[in-house]
Amino acid sequence: MSFANPVENVEELRDEIDQLRQQLRAVTEQVSTNEEKHRRSQQRELGLLKARDLGQLFHEMIDGLRDSYQLEFVSVVLCDPDHDIRHLLAAGGSPAESIEGLLLVDALSGMAPQYVALRTPWLGPFAACDHQMLFTGSPAVKSVALIPLVHQGNLMGSINFGSASADRFTVEHASDFLAHLGVIASFCVENTVNRARLLRSGFTDALTGWHNRRYLQVRLKEELARARRDQTALVCLMLDLDHFKRVNDTWGHLAGDAVLQEVANRIDAQVRASDVAARYGGEEFIVLMPDTDIQAGRKLAERIRTAVSSEPVNLGNGETVTITVSVGIASVDVAARENELKSIGESLIARADVALYSAKSSGRDRVVVEGH
Ligand code: GH3
Ligand code: MG
Ligand code: MG
Repeated sequence: MSFANPVENVEELRDEIDQLRQQLRAVTEQVSTNEEKHRRSQQRELGLLKARDLGQLFHEMIDGLRDSYQLEFVSVVLCDPDHDIRHLLAAGGSPAESIEGLLLVDALSGMAPQYVALRTPWLGPFAACDHQMLFTGSPAVKSVALIPLVHQGNLMGSINFGSASADRFTVEHASDFLAHLGVIASFCVENTVNRARLLRSGFTDALTGWHNRRYLQVRLKEELARARRDQTALVCLMLDLDHFKRVNDTWGHLAGDAVLQEVANRIDAQVRASDVAARYGGEEFIVLMPDTDIQAGRKLAERIRTAVSSEPVNLGNGETVTITVSVGIASVDVAARENELKSIGESLIARADVALYSAKSSGRDRVVVEGH
């Protein structure tokens, strides 16, 4: 039996301890990198989950993820064959064209060959022939990750990450974090689209496609808050068709509906994108004009009045009728300290209604400004 030299033994032990220490350090580092990765990925996912509407969600998915992952380029492709998402975005005030990096397409085929079997993230080199439609106008991209967005088992699009570094996304890289992100993002898209649909159906008038009274009430409060914050005036136009009952009585309800639709279109053609227009009741419409003075309000009202009456309306039964409209106008400046926005809004509409009544009683087919 031979005994190892005790001095050598101690040396060996020291080496072993050093090695163990190094291993421990590596493992600790790995754990804290993983923790940091986990924390950051949770933050990103929270950003998506907290988005209040589609515009904000796409902003988080494109700009938010690009900044957070420090990427060259991020785009989102979504299949939108019925233009449903496009309509919802437009209704929410952020039209699809205004969102850079968002591609709403009628079909996914032809966008990228990987779409044929994209169920988990695809990582690899950028190839112009395959990926140029996903990364239009971004020549610096060298490697890409295509993260599938799936709805009820069907591919509905992808989030596309583009990096200027060729070895950022390769087949060797683990992609489970990206897969998880894709699942959360898919859920958020579906959820936010559904919420927008619900909101829209509750705020839309079925006959004219205009916003309804409920929508106006919500927006009136928002616009009053903005007028108070920016110290600007808010002008309210209340429009009512003249002798509309006669149309129904003479030609029937369907002809009346056709008139309402046509008049709504004619009013719509005159208002600015920043104005809030709604069908307030049967044959009454309201237009709110933010950051506007009463003179501009009167001008718009006169333009609408002329547009409505200048040409007869087709009733859809071969006959036509000339329609006129009366308009009442009121405006409000909200004091900075004012808290009671609800009653201010009610009073604004009531004052526009008083002016409208005065337009009716003084002969119809005219514009009356409150106090004049
Ligand atoms: P005035 O000039 O004083 O406003 O007279 P008017 O006949 O327009 O006013 P009134 O309020 O007496 O009549 C409004 C009519 O609008 C009564 C109602 O039957 C009709 N109406 C309301 N909503 C609709 C609708 O959706 N379709 C049709 N066809 N008619 C509607
Ligand atoms: Mg009326
Ligand atoms: Mg009327």
